[in-house]
Amino acid sequence: MRVRFAPSPTGHLHVGNARTALFNWLLARGQNGTFILRIEDTDLERSTRASEQAILDDLRWMGLQWDEGVDAGGSYGPYRQTERMQSYVDHTNRLLAEGKGYYCFCSAETLEAHRKSQLAAGLPPKYAGTCRNIPAEEAKRRKDRGEAAVVRLRVPGGRNVTFNDVVRGEVTFHTDVIGDPVLVRSDGIPAYNFAVVIDDALMKVTHVIRGEDHISNTPRQLLLYEAYGYQQPTFAHLSLVMGPDHAPLSKRHGATSVKEFREKGYLPEALVNYLALIGWSPGQNEELLPADELARRFRLENVAHSAGVFDEDKLAWVNRHYLKIIEPHRLADLAEPHLRQRGQIAGELSADARAWLVSVLPGMAASVDRLPQLADRLDAVFNFTAPTESLDPTLVKALAGELAASPRLTDKDTFRAVANRVKDKTGLKGKNLFHPIRVILTGSHEGPELDLIVPAIDRAVGLGGLANVISCKDRAAAVANLL
Ligand code: GLU
Repeated sequence: MRVRFAPSPTGHLHVGNARTALFNWLLARGQNGTFILRIEDTDLERSTRASEQAILDDLRWMGLQWDEGVDAGGSYGPYRQTERMQSYVDHTNRLLAEGKGYYCFCSAETLEAHRKSQLAAGLPPKYAGTCRNIPAEEAKRRKDRGEAAVVRLRVPGGRNVTFNDVVRGEVTFHTDVIGDPVLVRSDGIPAYNFAVVIDDALMKVTHVIRGEDHISNTPRQLLLYEAYGYQQPTFAHLSLVMGPDHAPLSKRHGATSVKEFREKGYLPEALVNYLALIGWSPGQNEELLPADELARRFRLENVAHSAGVFDEDKLAWVNRHYLKIIEPHRLADLAEPHLRQRGQIAGELSADARAWLVSVLPGMAASVDRLPQLADRLDAVFNFTAPTESLDPTLVKALAGELAASPRLTDKDTFRAVANRVKDKTGLKGKNLFHPIRVILTGSHEGPELDLIVPAIDRAVGLGGLANVISCKDRAAAVANLL
């Protein structure tokens, strides 16, 4: 089995395309197949190397490593279409020589006028076939004299083109509605429908899995396979990923690219797991599974025909699961840029500060949806303003007095021991004890559990690379001063 993902490097990787890449990857991984990455960069105006790089980075970030393709090599390269021009030229010549393709000299204006008149007459626009019957030698002469010409495929009339789509079942198009498609533009650049067939055939692709926006291209491509006598691959057209209003997911719905979800602080394993659930199910009411297990269970036959809706709340739910089980050092790596952005990390992180992050973040991560929210959870560590609201003076003094005499509250037990002594001195307990302690030590009415945040504060004091942290002792003293 050989499958491929064939992005056009004209922008960021859309999550819909990322899902297409993922389904290809799942199939290849689960069936011991080969996953190919081919760059379709024949749209010279819109393709950029920067986009290509960004797509590669996003695929790698998701863990969708390819076996063959740009950067990976392989026996069927090159894997960038602009580097495969000679094979397109050879294939064009073959088609022209066999009369299965022909030069078309119609100007853009002529074609446009024809298109408009057809639309005006309520007909689907289709090439009129004006140049179909120009004798081949005459066409060649005109072309050699420098007349601008495209190459079109001679579509055989009066018959059906049928294929069995794995997702959609049998699909049939009548050739009478298919105008002779342009295969090569007048500047010699191959059109998508042409290059994709030559490449898929030469790269021995067995399964073409792509978005359903390509379904109407498929009959044209099948006619090309026929024209060359190439073995047709199996096709599977995946339904598009929709927004909550059932329109294709686009900018107006919010984030659409892998890059945006990455920046919002979703973990790659969460995005991968979530995308796999759009239009497919690993079964047995199990949804949270790692990529290798998804691959083991993946069957193209079980992919739903109906459109899948992208639900960011569900993605957040999946992300919460992975944030609970992530390895702490990796969590620290991933959280660092977000904490830096918020000024909580400033400068080179010392080994002690790094160790602090590794020990503190897992507790915080258990209650957030996304990485940047870790900075919210840590806010109480780095930002302290003594509360000005009225607090029970007996309690404030008792706490400040205990802390003045205590070691730093670097663990839960030390904190609990202090709280117990304050309890004995004031007679307060439960919420009446701990809520004001929270207000005094964090300046806030809410936040992470005190058992987590109090030791986090006192252990962060003075660590190199972190923003300045005021100790619990100094916090309590500052509040006592306000009495
Ligand atoms: N370059 C095409 C796209 O990005 C590939 C379509 C296909 O997989 O055939 O839509």
